[in-house]
Amino acid sequence: MIIVVRPGATEEQVNEILEQLEMHGLTAHISEGTERLIIGVIGDKSRLSADSLEVLPAVEKLVPIMESYKLASKAFRPEGTSFDIKNVTLGGKELVIMAGPCAVESEEQVESVAAKLRACGAKFLRGGAYKPRSSPYAFQGLEKEGLQILRRVADRHDLLVTSEITSENDIEYAADYLDMIQIGARNAQNFRLLSAVGKSGIPVLLKRGIAETIDEWLGSAEYIMSEGNYKIALCERGIRTFETATRSTLDISAVPVLKGKTHLPVIVDPSHAAGKAQYVAPLSLAAIAAGADGLIIEVHPNPKAALSDAAQQLTPEAFKTLTDEIRAMSVILGRTYPE
Ligand code: PEP
Ligand code: MN
Repeated sequence: MIIVVRPGATEEQVNEILEQLEMHGLTAHISEGTERLIIGVIGDKSRLSADSLEVLPAVEKLVPIMESYKLASKAFRPEGTSFDIKNVTLGGKELVIMAGPCAVESEEQVESVAAKLRACGAKFLRGGAYKPRSSPYAFQGLEKEGLQILRRVADRHDLLVTSEITSENDIEYAADYLDMIQIGARNAQNFRLLSAVGKSGIPVLLKRGIAETIDEWLGSAEYIMSEGNYKIALCERGIRTFETATRSTLDISAVPVLKGKTHLPVIVDPSHAAGKAQYVAPLSLAAIAAGADGLIIEVHPNPKAALSDAAQQLTPEAFKTLTDEIRAMSVILGRTYPE
């Protein structure tokens, strides 16, 4: 259930609502919109009658939420969410691009692309340090050292850092290196990990599970939000279908569907969906046209020599061409992209 607070209600009157909820063992999550204050109510509501809330002067109306996710639902923040990470806004008018190699292989490798990414308008540096590989014999990533490399390179080039964390044990020190924790597709329903990143308060890029429905995905977001961490962007990265021409099938429909179901910003990863570099640009443009708030794209200084995902990584030159197209397209869509 959500409680829509009457405009002009005093702080004292709002506190009356919060006290009622607390008395009945319910948790209140407050969403302060531009026009409305909304209170998301979580817990067993059977002992609290709607009447006892409706009589309170600050209550405008009570809206039941039928979905299993509440805080992630559009009703909780109808105007949409945008949030800042340092000087970058996610979910705002400006399209945000995160770019970098699939995996951090060495400081030289990341350093050799960082300035080019920044010059093309990218705001985040990406790069895997804990690589969730299908084979235990494949390159597993540089782990903590990889995060340290990302931080050093990003700081030299005025970039923010996002990278995947695969274990609760790594969250504590990851906070020293990351601006946004990436939860990968393979961990999208690792609920203990989701709750732990929720408790950490660090912004989260939540990938869609390989076989996760949109409602299940929003359930994953709810695990993070229910711990009080509302800084989440959802990342569509392709789903498993019968089609084999691409690595996964990019679910473009997910973008407008999410825009109707949730207030959270939506990012698209065309690289892992396509699995092939030649499809990354058309899928990127399609994602932006469908309403995505940004993209996460793999770029490697020498894709052929990459230790992982060699076929799908763009060269810095191809990335430049793509970002020029994105900039041109942003104008038509009423969005902006850095010069
Ligand atoms: C990644 O972005 O590094 C990655 C492994 O992607 P996904 O979890 O979507 O497969
Ligand atoms: Mn990859």
